[in-house]
Amino acid sequence: MIRLQNIHKSYITGTNKLHVLKGIDLHIKEGELVSIMGSSGSGKSTLLNILGLLDNHDEGVYTLNQEEIKAMSETKAAKLRNNLLGFVFQSFNLISFKNAMENVALPLYYQKVARKKRNKTALEYLDKMGLKDWAEHMPNELSGGQKQRVAIARSIITQPKIILADEPTGALDSATSVEVMNLLKEINQSGITVIIVTHENDIAHMTDRIINLKDGRIESIIENNKINSKETIRVPQE
Ligand code: ADP
Ligand code: MG
Repeated sequence: MIRLQNIHKSYITGTNKLHVLKGIDLHIKEGELVSIMGSSGSGKSTLLNILGLLDNHDEGVYTLNQEEIKAMSETKAAKLRNNLLGFVFQSFNLISFKNAMENVALPLYYQKVARKKRNKTALEYLDKMGLKDWAEHMPNELSGGQKQRVAIARSIITQPKIILADEPTGALDSATSVEVMNLLKEINQSGITVIIVTHENDIAHMTDRIINLKDGRIESIIENNKINSKETIRVPQE
């Protein structure tokens, strides 16, 4: 579903060039639940933004759904962004003057779905997130966990194939983080590919595969708690 080959990305500010991604090779299969882990500044958000077609890579080949991104028109890329991908952010990105239901319904507004229909669908998705009774509430009346569940409902209302979440638990306490992760796991079990960026070990360990990023390179990949890299770990015998 996703294939990256030798992806490079630099940011240029004034006369400075910052080489952030230094040759990323990665393959993500349909239906996977993966995390991208690494310390602050290692390039996680940059990588996720490239995966989400929110930013362009400089070098290398990115193939999404069998199509090469560089060869694609901006119209086509926008179509993929709106129909194939869903986004979740650390800061929730809810619209403060719209209630929970209207926030969830927003992607359908952009798809020109009639108001009655989109609100009905939004209520169904809020119900799935256990937020049926909160539909009329404004974002500032919701807890962090509730806000993130609204944002997750909004991200799946268009029935995307891939959810990209940048530090989705970054603003939440640990119990709420586990709840939000369980929700993302459920979404994954319904068949959606889920890619989560985090700098928290505990969160990454709730996913099937951990891609460890260090200084713009993949340092190791941990699959089902088995380390698959140059390093080896000793597994305690029963
Ligand atoms: P992470 O998400 O792992 O913390 P980022 O991908 O956000 O890392 O950033 C990697 C590096 O690139 C950091 O040093 C950051 O300051 C820099 N950076 C990120 N975005 C930009 C940008 N738009 N312009 C210039 N530098 C950027
Ligand atoms: Mg980041």
